[in-house]
Amino acid sequence: MSCLNQNQQPAPGTGINTAERMQPRAPGQVPPTMKNGRAVKDAGIAPEGLYRPDYRVMTPHMRSPEYVQMSTAAAITLGLVEGQMYNCSCTRCLNLLLTYPEGCRANCAYCGLARHREAERNYADRNFIRVDWPAAPMAEVVDRIAADVDNSPFHRMCISMITHPNSDEDTVTVLKTWTDRIDPDAIPISILSNPTTMTREDIVRLKDMGSDIFTVALDAASPAVFDRTRGKGVQSPHSWDTYWDAIHMARDIFGPQKFGAHLIVGMGETEREMMEVIQRLVDLGGHSHMFCFYPEKGSLMDHLPATPRDQWRRVQLARYLVDYCGVRVEHMTFGDDGRITDFGLPASELAAIVDAGIAFRTSGCPGKFAEDISACDRPYGDSPPSDIASYPFELRPADLRRVRHQLDMERPGETYVPGEELDLD
Ligand code: SF4
Repeated sequence: MSCLNQNQQPAPGTGINTAERMQPRAPGQVPPTMKNGRAVKDAGIAPEGLYRPDYRVMTPHMRSPEYVQMSTAAAITLGLVEGQMYNCSCTRCLNLLLTYPEGCRANCAYCGLARHREAERNYADRNFIRVDWPAAPMAEVVDRIAADVDNSPFHRMCISMITHPNSDEDTVTVLKTWTDRIDPDAIPISILSNPTTMTREDIVRLKDMGSDIFTVALDAASPAVFDRTRGKGVQSPHSWDTYWDAIHMARDIFGPQKFGAHLIVGMGETEREMMEVIQRLVDLGGHSHMFCFYPEKGSLMDHLPATPRDQWRRVQLARYLVDYCGVRVEHMTFGDDGRITDFGLPASELAAIVDAGIAFRTSGCPGKFAEDISACDRPYGDSPPSDIASYPFELRPADLRRVRHQLDMERPGETYVPGEELDLD
């Protein structure tokens, strides 16, 4: 038995994360001394190269476009920090996150970067999507990649904006710093945008400067969930209509297959609502990039359950069918509670797609292996490795048994022993 197996948390139960269950707690008050990064700015400590998040020391004053943060996986792959990732040697996407002492000015309930966290942790020390995000000078990041572009492990670079008054302009500068040294055809570029502050001209400029794909982190699959988790419900500035306006602008400017939206499954939407948004994106010519809700520590939803694995697998599979197999939501059937009861394909065809395993891997902008295999394979962003939601590697036979078990689609005579995939290590 592996150490992962010994530490395995009980899998979330079966069922659905209903709207009644998935209520964020209210944000608390932030002391004036902690607002807008004041503590960091008052201390005024100059950064010296790489900064590894450590909330026991005062965070240096770092700012984009000179500094960017990156996922722990990207920092390991780039050779900036040491570390190992379960069953993965690297990540194929270099996610660069804009960074400011003021942090993100939005307050999304599921997010570790949300504004209310000013009260307890400085901007660059906040966990985000389950991990720390080290910060480094942008010039050093570019130096490392430009030194050997042909042999770079990265299939894509992504600039992730946050909600900050400088983020539109600084995204342009970060992009130019990159394209001055690295051919965007060699490592294509994605933009994870901030629709709340962006104009059509901003989007056109990013396209003209060489970015390949434009994405919008819609995250919520219905207006009600959106408003509750990232709008007025949590004193956050975003609006459903503004986000959809950005998606439509991205379609016009970037063109078919070159735009997409992030969605998080299990924040209180029904499976039917989620599938209808996915179909809407495909009908526009775009893609969905899908994540499983995980209660981020320190967020306003950290007391809520991760998405039950049966709900997650149904939607994950159905999304793959709509995005890549020509199935439409109208071909599927749903129960009274919105649960998918039929995927709209003959059983043998469905079984072949399940057994291929690609439907259950991380989703995002494509890399260099195949259109339906994401470069964005940053591991364990939506689950611990002991209970994988999105697989950052090709599924092994035991992983497929686990997935079939969660979908209630086991082969005749097949048995899955919980945790057996962890005994492979
Ligand atoms: S806008 Fe993005 S980074 Fe900012 S709080 Fe919302 S989800 Fe987090």
